[in-house]
Amino acid sequence: MLAALKQEVFRANLDLVRHGLVIFTWGNVSAIDRAAGVVVIKPSGVAYDGLKAEDMVALDLDGRVLEGRYKPSSDTATHLALYRAWAEVGGIVHTHSTYATAWAQAGRDIPNIGTTQADYFSEAVPCTRDMTREEVLGDYELETGRVIVERLAGINPAHVPAALVKNHGPFAWGKSADEAVHNAVVLEQVAKMAYLAYGINPQLSMNGELIKKHFYRKHGPGAYYGQQ
Ligand code: 13P
Repeated sequence: MLAALKQEVFRANLDLVRHGLVIFTWGNVSAIDRAAGVVVIKPSGVAYDGLKAEDMVALDLDGRVLEGRYKPSSDTATHLALYRAWAEVGGIVHTHSTYATAWAQAGRDIPNIGTTQADYFSEAVPCTRDMTREEVLGDYELETGRVIVERLAGINPAHVPAALVKNHGPFAWGKSADEAVHNAVVLEQVAKMAYLAYGINPQLSMNGELIKKHFYRKHGPGAYYGQQ
């Protein structure tokens, strides 16, 4: 079972490169087997050429390594904080993809200004607050997870499947590693579109009814998008 999860996480990490979201080792994907209480994540800083499925690291939800010869991703504690907070999340992605990271560096939410975003996000993509000195100098990666969870307070993470960590970059999630990768790709695309659209018309807007129409035609009990 762990071999299958390692294979899924390994492939998902390579998919980030294939989709142009990651260069060098600037990203990570994890997935969780809730029944077994096991998280599998990419090893930290290992070049993707030559990386193998068996190089993925397995941990419990408290970060104790169960299997793996490498150190887990430096962002492991962030992933674990999100898994502990949100029981419905099965996969998490972090990247430094260009446009989403530009919004994160600018410290701005990505407003929901088009149906591309509204098909996946019920509202803006939220950006986290500045981290305090204590948070940065303390258990930094865990605190990074905490500021994401804090920012999502009152927001359903299944309706807003990504956030921007201020001055850092995007985290995206989903029911599986593959869905989290898909959402990370969508996020990068909507970040790019929003950047371009504001350049064309800084006063642009989108009707809230149109946002709802697009979100709920794909999600929830009344969804009718796609095949039955
Ligand atoms: P890791 O190789 O440790 O996962 O780090 C990648 C990264 O993007 C750090 O933010």
